[in-house]
Amino acid sequence: MELIELKGIGKTTAVKLNDFGLTDVMDLLFHLPLRYEDRTRITSIEDLVGFSYAQVEGEITKSYVTQGARPILVCEIDDGTAFMQLKFFNFYYSQKIKMKAGMRIRAYGEVKHGMYGMEIIHPEFSLGEKQPALAKALTPVYPKSEGISQKLLQKAAAQAIDLLKTGTFGLKELLPQSWLQENLMPTLEEALAFVHRPPSDADVMLLLNHTHPAQQRLKIEEILAHFLAMHQARTAVQQLGANAVPIDPEVKQQLLDLLPFELTGAQARVVNEIHQDMALNHPMQRLVQGDVGSGKTVVAALAMQGALTHGKQAAMMAPTEILAEQHLITLKGYFPDHTVVFLSGKIKGKTRQETLEKIASTADVIIGTHALFQADVIYRDLALVIIDEQHRFGVHQRLMLKQKGQISPKTVDGTSEENDADLVPHSLIMTATPIPRTLAQIAYANLDVSVIDELPPNRKVINTVLLDNQKMPQLAERIRQACDKGEQAYWVCTLIEESEHMRAKAAQDTFDELKDWFPDLEVGLIHGRLKSDDKQAVMDRFKAGKIQVLVATTVIEVGVDVANASLMVIENAERLGLSQLHQLRGRVGRGNRQSHCVLMYQAPLSEHAQVRLQTMRETNDGFKIAQQDLKLRGPGEILGTRQKGSMEFRFSNPEQDAELFKQAKAMAVELMAKNPEICEQIIQRWQRQAQELAKV
Ligand code: ADP
Ligand code: MG
Repeated sequence: MELIELKGIGKTTAVKLNDFGLTDVMDLLFHLPLRYEDRTRITSIEDLVGFSYAQVEGEITKSYVTQGARPILVCEIDDGTAFMQLKFFNFYYSQKIKMKAGMRIRAYGEVKHGMYGMEIIHPEFSLGEKQPALAKALTPVYPKSEGISQKLLQKAAAQAIDLLKTGTFGLKELLPQSWLQENLMPTLEEALAFVHRPPSDADVMLLLNHTHPAQQRLKIEEILAHFLAMHQARTAVQQLGANAVPIDPEVKQQLLDLLPFELTGAQARVVNEIHQDMALNHPMQRLVQGDVGSGKTVVAALAMQGALTHGKQAAMMAPTEILAEQHLITLKGYFPDHTVVFLSGKIKGKTRQETLEKIASTADVIIGTHALFQADVIYRDLALVIIDEQHRFGVHQRLMLKQKGQISPKTVDGTSEENDADLVPHSLIMTATPIPRTLAQIAYANLDVSVIDELPPNRKVINTVLLDNQKMPQLAERIRQACDKGEQAYWVCTLIEESEHMRAKAAQDTFDELKDWFPDLEVGLIHGRLKSDDKQAVMDRFKAGKIQVLVATTVIEVGVDVANASLMVIENAERLGLSQLHQLRGRVGRGNRQSHCVLMYQAPLSEHAQVRLQTMRETNDGFKIAQQDLKLRGPGEILGTRQKGSMEFRFSNPEQDAELFKQAKAMAVELMAKNPEICEQIIQRWQRQAQELAKV
């Protein structure tokens, strides 16, 4: 039903609502209130203590404008029980004139203790002897955007609810009746009506906490739709074919023999899981989660071997050029008999052309950044795609990849055999642990998950200390000691500036300062403004031990692996989030020497910063850190800009609603088995909502 069919909505308003993501009346129904106002009653002023929001009504005793740079309109009222003040910082003088002594006023707003008793600042109010009737239901307050008034949304939603009740939309109940009864939950229709128009005796606390059964009812269907859609996506990919590339145990052993270490139990297990997937003729969709330093690269290499044994190609994408180049070196070492090529944005012109030709012909292993998946990159026979540090990629990049995955790997001469037309590469996604397992299970419900839950042996726990910025001399001493022992140090500058330019400058300043401190040591500098070749040159020199102290911006955050580095100094660590600190710290402690991490901070610390730094000091465990991070920031923030899109819930919150997520998951499994038709309907109903949201 069109919005303009509602009273009070004309063409212009309809367009505005459209821009806001509300395209028809059904959308209005699913546009739920943020909070509620209780205008069903008048509270006497003497009872106001302890209220946050309240409605009062009384007689104006006087109103005046204060003197001073910023005049304030003060209106004093008396309701027979006590006095209070209403204050307006922005006002028109005409308003003051209307607020005459003796006039009746009803006001609603947030009540505070003021200097002269209770006060409300900028209340909503109505003047006059004849006040409108009190509201019968709690008043919903909707999320809105500019140019759309709250009143308009309230009126439109009220009409939508009336229409819903007359059965206009034929909104079908899709959840099993028995389940609703068992869990004492209302039907969808009842739930929607309730949340838009809660009766005056509704439990406001539950509503405000989003834990009212009516809200739970909406959430569970939303979550259910999520799981069902993820499952559907997964099944869709599974129905595509892939090249079965079983591993040859002998070839696997050859690589294992090359390694200077034994795989940990966890690595061996995960490698087996991957090889089992790749032996099948439908695409692997596996996520490998493993803390920093758990040894994901070698797992990736062993996966690649499956493809290589069968003469096919494997590609690996890393989020930064530095990391991709490092992988290039490592993998060249692992695959001396194969052609390993590199492609990133910095490869241009003739070199790029040559690289593209190789990718279409002789290359076996292709390493790079997201440049690997640009439209003109055509693979000879791609059987495996690996994404490293997946949590670092933006959504659009992941989407691009997804599309690439749909392309037949054999399109090079346009004569792909018919039965190969639907073959897609196996895909392996690797991620450190920026999100806790519980959250991962939701965000990656369409993937099989392997966890590397063991670090290589002989790793010493990184010793983390906190140091006030004032204590630089102590720190200088530490750095010198480490370097005297032949070890190396990172010094990370954390200026949180929008511009790469400013960050580079801050790093440059620190670099100059450190050179003054340590005239006899080799100090290096790396930041995002350096040309790729220069970056690479600096990293090479650091790797070769020619640079002792490397000053860096957070560009080194992911993946960089220099085992000889044993000291990590992070400036102004209080500015960084937990997962970023953990990633940075993970640059040391990669060999078997005792490593140290010094978190410098600027006192005084905020409460959250204190908890963050303390957590870093207390634990090296990525899972624990992710858990703490979740507590401090909430899932929205954690999945934040980087992960947005993988989990867009309008009503539900993976942490707060953990129990509902569990229930929904079980329900999804049951429904898929018993009633696939309903599953489709649930997905459609909510996908529409999700798409609308994506426009906002
Ligand atoms: P991640 O990518 O998981 O952070 P890397 O793959 O970079 O970790 O591995 C970290 C370091 O540990 C590397 O230097 C690697 O060679 C080494 N390593 C990996 N697996 C083992 C193992 N089983 N035993 C000893 N060292 C290992
Ligand atoms: Mg890595």
